[in-house]
This record gives sequence, C-alpha cells and structure tokens, in this order.
Amino acid sequence: MDQAVLILIKPDGLKKSLTGNILTRLSETKLEIVAAKMVRVSKELAEDHYRHLKDKPFFDEIIKYLRGELHDRKKVMALVYWGNDAIKKCRDLAGSTNPEEAESTSIRGSYGRITTGGVYENVIHVSSNDSEAEREIKLWFSPDEIIVDLYATKNIVQKEFKNRVWA
Ligand code: UDP
Ligand code: MG
Repeated sequence: MDQAVLILIKPDGLKKSLTGNILTRLSETKLEIVAAKMVRVSKELAEDHYRHLKDKPFFDEIIKYLRGELHDRKKVMALVYWGNDAIKKCRDLAGSTNPEEAESTSIRGSYGRITTGGVYENVIHVSSNDSEAEREIKLWFSPDEIIVDLYATKNIVQKEFKNRVWA
C-alpha cells in the first residue's frame, strides 16, 4: 500500500552533520521524496507535534530538544517520503526509539545517544502509523509545499491576508 510518512532530521542530526548520511540511508528504501524544507520550530509547533506525550515526565525536555535548545541548532529538516509500505520501511531503518536498544546498524543505533538527563537523542523522527503521518504532515506542511496530492484540500479566499514577499 502506498503511504506517506513524515521524517524529521532533529537538531542533533543537523549538529552532527548527519543529513547526508541519513538521506543516503533512507534512499535504500527507494521511496520518493515529495516534500522537503528547513524549519525553525516554534514552541507551538513542537508541542502540537508531541501532544500525545504531553503527560510524560520528559515532555518539556523533548520540546526543548526538538526546538534545538539542547544543541544550539534552532532548526530541523522536514521531509515527506511516499511509496509502498513507507512507514514500516522508514521506521525499520530508523530503529528503536531508545538508541541503546536500537539495532546497531540502524540510524538511531548508529548515531543516537541518551543524555545524562535521560532524553533519547535519536537524530530522526518517523511517523508511526497512517493517522499519525496524516496529522503530522498537515501540521508541518501546507498543500502547496508537497508535490503530489496526498489529502483532500479546499480553496479559501482570504481577505486582508498579509503575505511576505521578496522586496
Ligand atoms: N523520548 C524520550 N524518552 C522516552 C520516550 C521518548 O526521550 O522514554 C523522546 C525520543 O526522542 C522520541 C520522542 O520522545 O523520539 C517521541 O517519542 P515516541 O514514543 O513517539 O517515539 P518515536 O516515535 O520517536 O520512536
Ligand atoms: Mg512517535
């Protein structure tokens, strides 16, 4: 079944200059990249992204982590991969959430670590199921930033819409 999946290269991945390695690993899947951009992550976006973990004791730390406050790198790279069985293929390559438990050849097993504060710095995010992927892709991307039609869209006319354009 063709699926879309959100991938984030988290701030530790960027700080460790792992973008190329991670994209090369992901290219083994033969999936298609249908969207990609750099994002400066607001508190609201980070909290919405991890809202299913709101009650966990590590919530505040993972918000700081995703926003780059632990790595002095206030950005993430966001991508959408698309193709057959995309979620399982990417999650398998990523490895387990806990980098110490992840397969040593997986992305997290190769490059992740656990901080002294107990946060799993595991270099990438991968959506874990279809509904999570849809929610996350809609959170991180607008329809026009994705080169295929993944989900239903609608046209709206916005009055007095302020838009920043090149000067
Ligand atoms: N996380 C953590 N400690 C935990 C569980 C999760 O630090 O005990 C962090 C880790 O960075 C993980 C993120 O919170 O990637 C989101 O957790 P989730 O359970 O969704 O794992 P994932 O889907 O990323 O494998
Ligand atoms: Mg998750």
